[in-house]
Amino acid sequence: MKEILRKNLDSVIWNIEQARIKLSEHHIVKLVAVGKYSDEKSIKTLYELGQRAFGENQVQQLSSRKEHLEAFPLEWHMIGNLQSNKINKLIELRPTLFQSLDSLKLAEALNKKLEAKNKKMSVLLQINSANEESKSGVKTQEAIDIYQQIKENCPNLRLKGVMSIGANTEDTKIVKTSFEETHAIYDRLKKDGASICSMGMSGDYELAIKCGSNLVRVGSKIFTNKFN
Ligand SMILES: *Cc1c(COP(=O)(O)O)cnc(C)c1O
Repeated sequence: MKEILRKNLDSVIWNIEQARIKLSEHHIVKLVAVGKYSDEKSIKTLYELGQRAFGENQVQQLSSRKEHLEAFPLEWHMIGNLQSNKINKLIELRPTLFQSLDSLKLAEALNKKLEAKNKKMSVLLQINSANEESKSGVKTQEAIDIYQQIKENCPNLRLKGVMSIGANTEDTKIVKTSFEETHAIYDRLKKDGASICSMGMSGDYELAIKCGSNLVRVGSKIFTNKFN
């Protein structure tokens, strides 16, 4: 299993290198390995192979993995929908980055609880750039306004940038357009301190990097138990 994970990780890192260098040698891309289809043993193996940042899309899973792998210096990213009844739990977990803050309402609720506990949390605003009913995130037209409102009204949130999931289609042009739209918003938010543009998963991370992503969230391409 370790050899398979090694090959998968090497291949993803190689592809990230190729894509980012095409954009610019100065364009640095962070890889967050998404373990949701996998187990703790594989995460530990990836740690031994040099991977440090991991993402989970459920608070419960994040909690048990973080606890069981406490001995290792890992970064944990929350990348899934947060229900408001899980806010306290997430705060306790102190994630490195909560990437899927998807509404002003959630931002305000989270900020209130952080304030009461005298804590801060680094977050990304999730944008539903493909305008898909099934996806969460703020609308592209409202993203800048909401970002600025959060920045103003939620001092216990450290807004670091934006996150988006590419359009769910085989049509590369449509996926590319959704990434470009997110990146254009990110560009406009740089003056407000945005430094992270999180886009790209197993099927589209190279395309996302070409469109300016500097953080990719890759799960199945790494954790599959066959070579690819
Ligand atoms: C599952 C998930 C990923 C990783 O998906 P893969 O296609 O397996 O790489 C990335 N981002 C989010 C938000 C996810 O839920």
